[in-house]
Amino acid sequence: MREMLLQDTIAAPATAAGMGAIAVIRVSGKGAIAITSGLFSREKGKKKLTEIGTHRIVFGRFVSGEEEIDEILVSLFRAPHSYTGEDTTEISCHGSPYIQERIMDALLQAGCRKANPGEFTLRAFINGKLDLTQAEAVAELISAQSKAHHQLALQQLRGSVGKGLEDMREQLIRYASLLELELDFSEEDVEFANRNEFMELMQRICKRLQELLDSFKGGNAVKNGIPVTIAGAPNTGKSTLLNALLGEEKAIVSPVAGTTRDVIEDVSYIKGVAFRFIDTAGIRSTEDTVEQMGIVRTFARVEQASIVFYLAEPGEIEKDTFSEHLNDKRFLNKRLLLLVNKCDLLNKQQEEDLSKKLLSLTTHPVFFISALHGIGMDKLRLWLEALVEHEYLNTRETVLISVRHSDAIRRALDACREAMLRMEAGMSGELVAQEVRESLYYLGLITGKVSTEDLLDVIFRDFCIGK
Ligand code: GDP
Repeated sequence: MREMLLQDTIAAPATAAGMGAIAVIRVSGKGAIAITSGLFSREKGKKKLTEIGTHRIVFGRFVSGEEEIDEILVSLFRAPHSYTGEDTTEISCHGSPYIQERIMDALLQAGCRKANPGEFTLRAFINGKLDLTQAEAVAELISAQSKAHHQLALQQLRGSVGKGLEDMREQLIRYASLLELELDFSEEDVEFANRNEFMELMQRICKRLQELLDSFKGGNAVKNGIPVTIAGAPNTGKSTLLNALLGEEKAIVSPVAGTTRDVIEDVSYIKGVAFRFIDTAGIRSTEDTVEQMGIVRTFARVEQASIVFYLAEPGEIEKDTFSEHLNDKRFLNKRLLLLVNKCDLLNKQQEEDLSKKLLSLTTHPVFFISALHGIGMDKLRLWLEALVEHEYLNTRETVLISVRHSDAIRRALDACREAMLRMEAGMSGELVAQEVRESLYYLGLITGKVSTEDLLDVIFRDFCIGK
């Protein structure tokens, strides 16, 4: 079925729908150049499109029957030197929806089929121009809303995910084949696959797969916004801080303790990085059931957070409960920042005294801020920026941003571990090879070396038409 569809010459607008200065209509497939040429008129004496070499841009008129539709530029790419790997033309016309519609109509009448979502990229994948991770990166790149997501998508587009996995696959294929070959000589009890080398390779591969898997947490956070939970006792200014960070009135600010009973969150961009700031119900002992539910939810949010802003009021720090709440075991292993809010109410001396006291109470970094008056907020933003730069972006390591990749890697890793266990237990090469083949399958699913129609449909249906 798919093979048949791939024989078609496809066409679609590549630019966004609606009016624009110019629009680009893409045509790809065996008939692309001939069909475009049939609708294209140049000055007398000039070569036809069909006679022109690859990577040229030519000026002329788009004509449908006797009627001139527009003056256009045609960019010409000959197979295999195009995005799709097929003969391709890109028609740059004036950007009116009417012109685009007329050009599309003429192309369809002349034998093109309207492209399905992502079909240009699907063809690029099928023609070996991109592996599947790179094809998916195209969609990531188009949808990226932040500098950080864009950067990771670009890394994936360059092949960072696929290349490493393909190398692994080649090594694994070799061992799987050697192990399977032993079967043919089972009478003679030979070992083609060196057991020690195999175990070393598997250890290396498992380590690498685990690193990739670990990178997903950060990659996912960068893509969807790094979760920052704002926690602390009621009335310390959490909602005020959220509003200050988001730059709008999102949470309800009230002098009555316990007002934020639910969880409020929104995304804000700092230097091109998305943060998901999450305001929570205050943490305190309470009899009010609604508020208790809020507190349970607070800790659920703390659980998901990469970063916790723990807000405290100056007066509260003197109390015993402060240290107890701050050192709650649920904050362990979190990157916690202690924010002493309402510092506008302190004089220099008081701030210094509090600073000293806090040194003995906590090892977390401490910032004095006033959410209400905007004091210390720039410093806080700089800290976040530096953290992201250091921990999420400034890395040459490959970072996974796709759930699909992370799921498949988890399965491949399980299979590799099982293969090692089987080998250690002295099981037959055949049983070891079975697991190696399983991990090969999952790694192949990621790069597209193994693919099914269903998988491709799921991946490409989310693309826009014309991509
Ligand atoms: P929440 O219960 O922790 O969400 O606290 P709110 O954000 O509702 O704030 C509680 C009260 O503290 C409100 O009256 C705020 O105006 C006040 N407040 C918040 N931040 C500051 C600050 O930096 N300085 C002062 N003086 N008051 C603040």
